[in-house]
Amino acid sequence: MHPNDRSLKSFIDSAESSDFPIQNLPYGAFSTAGDSHVRIGVAIGDFILDLSVVEEAGLLPKIAPSGIFDRPVINEFMALGSAAWSSMRLGISELLRHDNPKLRDDAALRQRALVLRKDAMLHLPVRVAGFSDFYSSREHATNAGIMIRGPENALGANWLHIPIGYNSRASTIVASGTPIHRPMGQIKPPDGPPIFGPCRRLDFELEMAAIVGAPSQMGHRISTEQAQNSIFGFALLNDWSARDIQAWEYVPLGPFLAKAFATTLGQWIVPAEALEPFRVEGPKQDPQPLPYLHQSPKMNYDVDLEVDLRPGGSNNASMLTHTNFKYMYWSTAQQLAHHTSTGCAMSVGDIIGSGTISGPDKSKYGSMLELAWGGKEPITLEGGVKRTFLEDGDVLTMRGWAQGNGYRIGFGECSGEILPVN
Ligand code: MN
Repeated sequence: MHPNDRSLKSFIDSAESSDFPIQNLPYGAFSTAGDSHVRIGVAIGDFILDLSVVEEAGLLPKIAPSGIFDRPVINEFMALGSAAWSSMRLGISELLRHDNPKLRDDAALRQRALVLRKDAMLHLPVRVAGFSDFYSSREHATNAGIMIRGPENALGANWLHIPIGYNSRASTIVASGTPIHRPMGQIKPPDGPPIFGPCRRLDFELEMAAIVGAPSQMGHRISTEQAQNSIFGFALLNDWSARDIQAWEYVPLGPFLAKAFATTLGQWIVPAEALEPFRVEGPKQDPQPLPYLHQSPKMNYDVDLEVDLRPGGSNNASMLTHTNFKYMYWSTAQQLAHHTSTGCAMSVGDIIGSGTISGPDKSKYGSMLELAWGGKEPITLEGGVKRTFLEDGDVLTMRGWAQGNGYRIGFGECSGEILPVN
């Protein structure tokens, strides 16, 4: 049976009602107190299935070199290509089915192969090769444009023709839970010369990361059709942004250090295949894009996204936004087709940031810049605490899930605490 089949059940009772049912099987890198070496697993209910253990036990399809999951990152596995991704996912699904006794009835193996998620530490599951970030939500680009240029020229002249993006830094992508120091930088106060000091307008950007699993050669263009075989999976992404540093540095080459101090990747990489049932139509594109950006119907994904903020010293997190990946104007496939349109090579482990995901109203904005409208409209958190941008001690947590009929495909968390300047 196909691993996405709704009728599948796992022998792990906690799976069905959790964010990690047998239809999900997202990949992550983990270690435990008893075994500090980092290996690859999939989340299933309250557990992580240690793929290095079941592979060694000979219970996975023999399509990969032995020990391929006994690694701190998933790159080698991704490099096997999309047919291998599907075969392995099917093999893992079969191993976890309620009617398969191989693991279910082997108590000793179960003991070694199933680790409680709450007892595990999660690590960055990808050796990030390159990181490009887009600007593909029409609502976000419009909101930011209104604040910068006014409502008349909110969208730049190119925005409806090109999925706008920039090359960011792979070196500072970190695992969920990694604390983030407030950056220093060059800032231009409104009345006076530039200064070098702590960022005063520290922001988050709610995004999705597409993880490139299949490389492309320099000079080769990936079509929107081929793009689907290039994307291994999706994870949550927080593209932390220093708005005051950004505002001063971005002319004329775009963001540079304002977004290069830290980017947080979510805990779990949900296979693109697991999201197939959640494909939806994106917003109508008018004017029609150039032919190299044409795509099949239903290239967006219906994934609910939430962000909450817990101030330092408080036990209460306040919900900041609840939006959806489906609102993106440019799809991941179009972004990848555009990215390679001049012949730029893609590598295994590249991350394509969707761009900030905002929706049509204020309850669906994906950054503090928009939620507090450039600092002009402070938002009120539980207990009456106000925020325009992020303050030291704030803990920001993103969550995401695709909602099926009676089950959900969850992404876990993408979380980080703001620490003072280092
Ligand atoms: Mn961004």
